[in-house]
Amino acid sequence: MPELPEVETVRRGLAPAMEGFVITRAEVNRPDLRWPFPENMVERLTGKRVLRLRRRSKYILGDLDSGETALIHLGMSGRMLVSGDPLGQFVHNHPAPEKHDHVVLHMENGARITFNDPRRFGAMDLFPTEAGESHPLLASIGPEPLGNSFDETYLVGALAHRNTPMKSALLDQKTVAGLGNIYVCEALFRSKIHPTRPARKVSKARISGLVPVIRGVLSDAIEAGGSSLRDFRQADGELGYFQHSFDVYGREGEPCRSEGCTSTIRRIVQSGRSTFYCPTCQR
Ligand SMILES: [Zn+2]
Repeated sequence: MPELPEVETVRRGLAPAMEGFVITRAEVNRPDLRWPFPENMVERLTGKRVLRLRRRSKYILGDLDSGETALIHLGMSGRMLVSGDPLGQFVHNHPAPEKHDHVVLHMENGARITFNDPRRFGAMDLFPTEAGESHPLLASIGPEPLGNSFDETYLVGALAHRNTPMKSALLDQKTVAGLGNIYVCEALFRSKIHPTRPARKVSKARISGLVPVIRGVLSDAIEAGGSSLRDFRQADGELGYFQHSFDVYGREGEPCRSEGCTSTIRRIVQSGRSTFYCPTCQR
């Protein structure tokens, strides 16, 4: 499942092929993914110039010169592929169409953007750009973890009276946007905060310390994604999934990497999802 750094990597990979260019033809091969596509999606995309490609939480937002914004969500298994050679940096040819190529955008520069999603939990929508974040999928999302409004004062205030475990509080999209299971585990490990500790029982100093840590784990992953982007141009054109090593995530039973710690990483289940942590380092 793509998390924020993967989505940001996809956005960065798509931008050179899409930003500033007209969608000359849109192919929509089915009526829906997770939800029905918006009415007349083909007509509303065709002939429109992509002014810029943004990201909000795990959504990619393409502002069009028609005054509408295209929203793309990769869901569980969505993939974006870029083929063609718009700027001399995508060396792969157009692949043969595959079964799950649900939306294909043909760009004026020769690039072809393919949204493939075997499990169809992804989504696409169109809404007026001026509606800003009133779109139902965006309306209740908290601040971007890499943005300016996510700071120490904000996070202390957001967690101060919450009785929920730290893990759940940070997974809550209203607390912070798009911080998924993996990066919550990693951030709590780096902060030495136990994932089951109720948020209101964690000191302000430790909560404050989480802000740079959260930014750090995401930035590290986005950097790893950047390396994968350089590789993808020589590979198969698929964006967004890359190898990245984690300190605790997926490391149950393996030795803790903190200096001097002899514990092994444990896994518990919280709200139906795996949590990985060090029982010695995290309190
Ligand atoms: Zn440890």
